[in-house]
Amino acid sequence: MTQPLSRDPEDALSPDDSADTSDASGEVVRCDACPVLCRIRKGQAGACDRYANEDGKLVRLDPLLLLQRRVDAGGAVVPFLEPGKPWDGRLISASNTFVTGVGATTTYPDYKPAPFIVASKAEGVDVVTVVTEGIFSYCGLKLKIDTDRFLGPERAAVRAAGEQVGHVTTAEYGSQMLALGGVRHLTGGSKKEGSVTCEAMLKLANREPVDLAIDGGASLRVQAGAAPIVNGEQELRMRVGCGSATIGIFAKQWLGHADEVIVVDDHITGVLTEHQAGRFLCMRPAGIRVRGRRSTPGRYFKVAEPGQGWGGTDITDPLAIIDRIDPKTAWPGLRLLMVSTTGEDAEFFVLDAALKPVRAPMPAPLRAVVERIAENCEPALTSVLFMGGAGGSLRAGVTENPVRLTRSVRELVTRVTCGGAPVYVWPGGGITLMVDVLRMPERSFGYVPTPALVLPIEFTLPIAAYREMGGHIDSAVDLETVLREGRWRAEGWRDGNPWPVTTK
Ligand code: SF4
Repeated sequence: MTQPLSRDPEDALSPDDSADTSDASGEVVRCDACPVLCRIRKGQAGACDRYANEDGKLVRLDPLLLLQRRVDAGGAVVPFLEPGKPWDGRLISASNTFVTGVGATTTYPDYKPAPFIVASKAEGVDVVTVVTEGIFSYCGLKLKIDTDRFLGPERAAVRAAGEQVGHVTTAEYGSQMLALGGVRHLTGGSKKEGSVTCEAMLKLANREPVDLAIDGGASLRVQAGAAPIVNGEQELRMRVGCGSATIGIFAKQWLGHADEVIVVDDHITGVLTEHQAGRFLCMRPAGIRVRGRRSTPGRYFKVAEPGQGWGGTDITDPLAIIDRIDPKTAWPGLRLLMVSTTGEDAEFFVLDAALKPVRAPMPAPLRAVVERIAENCEPALTSVLFMGGAGGSLRAGVTENPVRLTRSVRELVTRVTCGGAPVYVWPGGGITLMVDVLRMPERSFGYVPTPALVLPIEFTLPIAAYREMGGHIDSAVDLETVLREGRWRAEGWRDGNPWPVTTK
């Protein structure tokens, strides 16, 4: 169960905008990394648990994360920082070491240069990576939940700990989608709604499980990269396709073993002999008419209500979707297979003398195709994508002329990454990005109790372009300076993520 954020800013601070309330003894230091401006007593952490007063000094509790390639672009093994050990002064290849925004600290207000502006070389060209932990009040998560089961009506409220934290949005192919967070839930409701929303987003972004309940729908346990649990049952398979697609894939394999196959699906139910696939195979019409609205031959919409039954419908007896059997077309002994889009549910019938379907043992060739449907289903997972707008004041930490950063991103001169992970930048104004949290380092996200999420973000570009855009070039440092002066830890580069420090 998601609980509201446990730390209230007032637990750790006495906000005082009028003066720098750090005292000379260091008993209290003021953190100015976000608008909360915590005054932190010695030995304590600030409201977000990211900063602390260590012996009178303000420190970021998580060290800066460096990611290293073991092998460079030419295939040579490169020197590597040893995890958990301080830098021994050996030459470390800046071309193979990426300084991420994880643990980088935040600057506030934004006009101050970003915490790290790191110079390096890529393919002989001088480049910089501007690194920060951005505070995102405008952000949300998109959850893709691989299941056919009905989770709730479109636009229904999604709740955590009783608070609305998002809504059900349009379903995608084989997946139900939720939109969580967003500035309205963070700032537009009660304080509790904001903090519960922030907590649910933080946990999901950091790959923790979260329990959600959907008004008029299911209860869920979701976690990035894990199978969703719907009403207490773990979802196993993502469907092979809609009912029509399933017919298209397997029609030939059913030929000769069944006279009719109906693939039950909440969206598009397929009927083999009417479907183009059956016609191409010259199958004899079976005269079995299913309920719902006929879209095109062999493709039916709304054969039942959505639910937890066969193919995401509410039916548990497949015969319930048969509207009528035409005596002029059907015949006694007709072999009918009914199957769901995951192969989880399947039954075999033979029409008796009165053309009534009678359950019968499924012949082995049909059983094999049902099993093949299941085999062709991918494992059901929950995917969590963070979406946020970096087009606001965060840009001022990069350049004095923020619109030039936006243009540079759009012109693909500046590469944007989050903890080294590639992002998708939406077209149109601003820098509105999406990133898969599973491609980021673990526990990349933080929060501040304004409430907002904290996201590591890096901008990498040639130094000439950085100078031209009015970047804070005087604040650029080399990797050795970062290693010498900062608290850091090193991890290996994540396979599958493109190396971002490149001029191509
Ligand atoms: S909430 Fe965190 S970042 Fe903000 S002032 Fe307090 S300690 Fe600093």
